[in-house]
Amino acid sequence: MKKISQVAIIRCPDYDAGRVAAAVERGFDVLGGISAFFRAGESVLLKPNMLSAKKPDVAVTTHPEFLRAVSRVFKKITTEISAGDSPGGAVSGTGRVWNETGIGAVCESENLYKVIFEKTGSVPFESQNPRNKRIKTIDIAKAALDADALVSLPKMKTHTLMLFTGAIKNLYGCVPGLRKAHYHFMAVHPDDFAELLADITLIVKPRFSIVDAIVSMEGEGPSAGEQRRTGLIIMGADSVAVDAVMAAIMGFDPLRDHTLKACARLGLGTADLSRIEIVGDGRLEDFIIGDFKKPSNWKIRMVPRFLGPLVKKIFWAKPRIDADVCTRCRICYNTCPAKAIFFEKDRLVVDKSLCIECMCCHELCPDKAIDIEYSRLADVLTRRSSARRK
Ligand code: SF4
Ligand code: SF4
Repeated sequence: MKKISQVAIIRCPDYDAGRVAAAVERGFDVLGGISAFFRAGESVLLKPNMLSAKKPDVAVTTHPEFLRAVSRVFKKITTEISAGDSPGGAVSGTGRVWNETGIGAVCESENLYKVIFEKTGSVPFESQNPRNKRIKTIDIAKAALDADALVSLPKMKTHTLMLFTGAIKNLYGCVPGLRKAHYHFMAVHPDDFAELLADITLIVKPRFSIVDAIVSMEGEGPSAGEQRRTGLIIMGADSVAVDAVMAAIMGFDPLRDHTLKACARLGLGTADLSRIEIVGDGRLEDFIIGDFKKPSNWKIRMVPRFLGPLVKKIFWAKPRIDADVCTRCRICYNTCPAKAIFFEKDRLVVDKSLCIECMCCHELCPDKAIDIEYSRLADVLTRRSSARRK
């Protein structure tokens, strides 16, 4: 089979900025050199995953030293480098996210333009994906479109709604502020959300992707999982191929993933591993992590869509708030797109009849106070009564 995309997999043991920069440079070298993808003097926007206000060592967000190292590699070709995102729970200001993640400090010490997507205005786009039937107009942060080149810098993580998150899902941060929650409500089913992500990718057109898979997240990602040292950097110009390789390393079949299939249909890249040439530190088989923990609800996510309405009442996974752990920060309350979370006396509870299972609350809770509760049948299938916790 003719190879149509190249993805580099480079080993990198830790977040020493010098070692990460050397690994990223080596990745560019085996792909043909940074000048094969970027022109000198271009403006480059680095887009880390800044999901929520978490310290770097819990592996929820792209590590700040990863951003530092990548920015130093780009400084060899340009001085016009910025870093930006719109964090998920952007309801009470994003300053805490920039501070806690360490991304703000790196922007200052490396003289990167700090771009707060919520403050740059947005541009409405008509959907260009005929299969995205839910959201016809998509607002994208203006700053995500202004740079000559956008580079996606995701963290390799599992995801309770979409199974995994990488270069493509990271682009959802280009939707500013609470419109993210609104779109979740409009595109409830993961298949519909996948079509939306493909649409966003088509609009944003990332030039390149570099995945922080040095310490990744397994289990109940993207925020309540466990850290796992995987020691890798995955990079390439085809973001779909980069995610396909990342998915394979995590133990998923990329050709069964709705987001990658939707992107491939739109001509955004290939998810077919037989058409991807792996370069760098070994063959793909050398990097696959056989025991990488998937989200506990992943089998539910594999139920074919046409069976959904038939099995919905007996086969579900919904969030459950642990009142003893909950700090009443209200992030879930303010961001739940279905308004399914409410106060019962002084505790927050989920109204299961309203919940659309988008898992935004589970994703954004800063204190791991939200567990996943299963119906009896789903419990049997997942062989777990609740999400495993540390
Ligand atoms: S309760 Fe959580 S999973 Fe249910 S709709 Fe609200 S945010 Fe989504
Ligand atoms: S469940 Fe989590 S997000 Fe919701 S109020 Fe409690 S601590 Fe905050």
